[in-house]
This record gives sequence, C-alpha cells and structure tokens, in this order.
Amino acid sequence: MANYPMEGGCRCGKVRLRINVPPILTMACHCRGCQRMTSSAFSLSAAIPTEGFAVTAGEPVIGGLHGAARHYFCGHCMSWMFTRPDGIDFFVNLRPTMLADPGIFSPFIETWTSEKLPWAKTPAVHSFEALPTMEAYEGLAKEYMERRDSLGIM
Ligand SMILES: [Zn+2]
Ligand SMILES: [Zn+2]
Repeated sequence: MANYPMEGGCRCGKVRLRINVPPILTMACHCRGCQRMTSSAFSLSAAIPTEGFAVTAGEPVIGGLHGAARHYFCGHCMSWMFTRPDGIDFFVNLRPTMLADPGIFSPFIETWTSEKLPWAKTPAVHSFEALPTMEAYEGLAKEYMERRDSLGIM
C-alpha cells in the first residue's frame, strides 16, 4: 500500500515537495520534447490533484518551452520536477522519479508513440499515437482510479 504524505525532491535536494493524495492518472510521454527534456526515452507523469501537492522547500524555476504549459525545474541541479499543464489548474503533473519511492506509479497510459524510440517499452495499458482527446482523459482517469483503488497502488 502507498502511504501518504509522500516526500520527494530534486537531485540536489534544494527543492523538496510533498504529495498528500494519490494520482488520478499516470502517464509516459514518448514525444521528442520529453525525450530532450529528460535526456531519455520518455517522461513519466503522475497527475496529482492540486490541493494534494505542495512545494515544501526551495523555489522551482520555469524551464522547458517557457510557454503555456509551465515546466518547473530546480534552479540549481536543473531536475525537471513537475508541470502545470496549459489552462488546467486542478492537477499538477509530477515526475514520480522525484519521490522517495520512484517506482511506485507505473504508467497507465502512454502518449506520442508515433515519436517513440524503437526499443522503448512501458507497461502502459493504453497507448496513443499522439494525445487522447479531452473527453477520453475523463474515462481513462476513471478506469485508472478504479484499478488504483482495487490494487492499493499503481
Ligand atoms: Zn536540485
Ligand atoms: Zn511529451
């Protein structure tokens, strides 16, 4: 079982964060932008309801595209820590690798498989060549939360 609150932080530890509630959806994104920002094959996201998410130390800075979606980094070690999506304020996309137990949230969906590195694989249950529609996200979140609650964690 997952225990809340869960603590996390960037690589150097100057920025610390805490989550008090489980994610409403977990994702891997294979887009080229995420490949560049993670220096790896894909990014990981856990969508945490905003009221259950807090930065507890340090001041994260905006990085990435400096655009409508706000990508937050530690200003010292430059770890990409979380994203506040464009026009959405009810959840924050946390990179679960910031958490003390980085493997706790396996990705339930994967996006942008059209840009995926040929050898990259995730355990995602649903795959999308690009992004799901906004309506589809609601059904995916519902399905994820049902599984999450029956399995204890995911
Ligand atoms: Zn840092
Ligand atoms: Zn991406």
